[in-house]
Amino acid sequence: MRSRRILFALLWLLTFAAQLPAATPPTRPNIIIILTDDQGYGDLGCYGSPSIRTPNIDRMAAEGVRFTDFYSGAEVCTPSRTALLTGRYPLRSGMAGNRRVLFPNSAGGLPPAEVTLAEALKARAYTTAHIGKWHLGIHAGSRPQDQGFDSTFGLPYSNDMDARPGITAKDRFSAHPPADGWNVALQRNGEVMERPADQTTLTKRYTEEALRVIAAANDKPFFIYLAHSMPHTPLFASPAFKGKSRRGIYGDVIEEIDWSTGEILAALRRAGLAENTFVFFTSDNGPWLTEGAQGGSAGPLREGKGSTWEGGMRVPGIAWMPGRVRPAVTSEPASSLDLYPTALALAGAPSPTGVALDGLDLLPLLVGQRALPERPYFFYRGTELFACRLGEWKAHFRTQSGYGQPQPDVHATPLLFRLPHDPSEKYDVAATHADVLTRIASAVTAHRATIVPIEPQLK
Ligand code: MG
Repeated sequence: MRSRRILFALLWLLTFAAQLPAATPPTRPNIIIILTDDQGYGDLGCYGSPSIRTPNIDRMAAEGVRFTDFYSGAEVCTPSRTALLTGRYPLRSGMAGNRRVLFPNSAGGLPPAEVTLAEALKARAYTTAHIGKWHLGIHAGSRPQDQGFDSTFGLPYSNDMDARPGITAKDRFSAHPPADGWNVALQRNGEVMERPADQTTLTKRYTEEALRVIAAANDKPFFIYLAHSMPHTPLFASPAFKGKSRRGIYGDVIEEIDWSTGEILAALRRAGLAENTFVFFTSDNGPWLTEGAQGGSAGPLREGKGSTWEGGMRVPGIAWMPGRVRPAVTSEPASSLDLYPTALALAGAPSPTGVALDGLDLLPLLVGQRALPERPYFFYRGTELFACRLGEWKAHFRTQSGYGQPQPDVHATPLLFRLPHDPSEKYDVAATHADVLTRIASAVTAHRATIVPIEPQLK
């Protein structure tokens, strides 16, 4: 009898032990998303910039996974940020439309019903901090403090909005923009701290705020959404960086963001949190080419911000979590839509119920080094589907430059590019690949069937 009891106890122990993973992953790791504004694909050392020095981000890339084919969720600010924070194509929440982005006089904003990444992580008791640009609405229900963030510090929208009388677009993309030209307010938890914000110290102060959140974490998991205001024009760098780069003020600004990233990773290392913090670095869209030398570079990619050519939406993407994310360069296509399900998987947080998510958990790729399943990626301009990528192929149904071309070119037979062979989208191969166009057409039909009409917010 006694020996039977011991046997049962042993069996129970064995069964329990078998359920434990071989190496227990860290529970509820911290999550930091660093999002730059209008930084191009070619504006980092590790993405081939010949004149901008980014040793900290280059080291982050060498220690983590660098994506060669990472996409923003949209071609401009507001919808791109919506995609990142909701894990959904922005037209699903009404955050895409003719006006392209929210303006200070817009009535709309991110609907309260949307479950942001911050809200989803609250279910796992994360401390959530928004730092930097918001641009998802200034009215009650849409502000960071209404959308799951315990604290918020930064600008309510772009740094070029609220231009003072007499300020022109030319002032905005000057190499020496007037320091008091824009009346945008720096706010903490909804209270105005400084107006106009001293933009020369924004990157520095955002960084100090991130370090403060890390230091205050006290063993509680945290989520930091650090959305830099730069390098969106007008460009400002702090005195320590101004005039220091070989790439003018644009390079100064990126080198300060590189410093900022290095400070954050160093703080994580010092606090013993590096192995338990997932950091992702990316940009909200491609470079603003109409800003001249004050706009960035898409490297070999065609066009820039505002367009659905590769230069408008393919951006830097770097994942870092020493000891867990294994160093690699990957050409798997992925996008900022994937960060939401990836963060939920890391945190062990449930997906919101009844919500159509558009991305995939990237951990099998980042941790397990397994290929992701082939899936289509859709390029929208406003609410209009312009292009679709499937595997190596990208079909354009409509094309339009980011700015300055009033109407799109509509292609009865879509343009088709094989991106690894032709990253600059120069050589249309539709005529010889009708089978690919058929596969893409059925992916589009299946996707369209999932879109539910909703009240537009960007009217
Ligand atoms: Mg932007």
